[in-house]
Amino acid sequence: VADYKDGKWQNPQILPYGNMSLSPATSALHYGQSIFEGMKAYKDANGDLLLFRPLDNFRRLNKSAERMCMPAITEDIFMQGLEQLLKLDAAWVPPTSGCALYIRPFMFATDEFIGVRPSSNYRFTVFTCPVGAYYGQPLKVAIEPQYVRSAEGGAGFAKAAGNYGAALLPARNMQERGYHQLIWTDAKEHKFIEESGTMNLMFVIDGKLITPPVSTTILAGITRDSVLTLAKDLGYTVEERKVSVDELEEAYKAGKLQEAFGTGTAATIAQIATIHYNGQDMHLPVVEEREISNRIANELDKIKTGQAPDKHNWVHRISL
Ligand code: PMP
Repeated sequence: VADYKDGKWQNPQILPYGNMSLSPATSALHYGQSIFEGMKAYKDANGDLLLFRPLDNFRRLNKSAERMCMPAITEDIFMQGLEQLLKLDAAWVPPTSGCALYIRPFMFATDEFIGVRPSSNYRFTVFTCPVGAYYGQPLKVAIEPQYVRSAEGGAGFAKAAGNYGAALLPARNMQERGYHQLIWTDAKEHKFIEESGTMNLMFVIDGKLITPPVSTTILAGITRDSVLTLAKDLGYTVEERKVSVDELEEAYKAGKLQEAFGTGTAATIAQIATIHYNGQDMHLPVVEEREISNRIANELDKIKTGQAPDKHNWVHRISL
């Protein structure tokens, strides 16, 4: 925990996990200045804790902070706080088990007032939670026909709490219709693929790995960037460009939609089994036949768990 007061971050400290007491007038609760990050750490065979690309989460948190009119956290507080906390919490993770420590850094406005203005005081907090190995079934997803997550000029690129709050109703509606997740399209034309609830999206069409470009309307996923980098390393053709729903449908009809998957810290790579659009289900080939995503998922998993060389310097090792 660290507090922003009198224009600077102060008093970083480790506290026992427990309740926080807040005034009913705490401005984050009313005006939404609340941002977060999500990261994971694995243990390798030596029992060291391997944190994946933490500086990228640090930078993204500060991008969110800037958009939400909040102060930037310092690299020292972020990284030293993580090191100290993770040394204490590492015992939760058995080595080489596939289990991980999920890490949740967040920042929120703590001023007590009524009135819409930025807070002067903030709290930065990190807590962790052990999570099991992820064995998700391939997802049934549907193109969201009505709602939008994000529009140009908005805050879609920020990991701001309000973005998630606004997505809950459409996501629940979709679950009630039998789909695990929805796919957002752009706010202007409802035509181009944006992302999913907590994942960026990728497609393999005719042997090429295609994903929507980073923009002001989607979250720039760290898994997304890692997957694209590994795909290029493995010699695949990568295209970061707009993908329309119609293009997916045409590729599907031509038998060229070979793979579809989501990328994110929680699931790493989540395979998509079917995509619902315009009253029909597009059925993707079985997961075993998906060469590109399977190879990349395997490679990424090995790097994160210390079983493959870390040639991009992604792993931050914490020796216990
Ligand atoms: N999009 C959204 C909206 C997300 O919440 C997440 C999860 N952080 C992602 C994409 C994937 O980002 P990352 O790979 O950095 O976890």
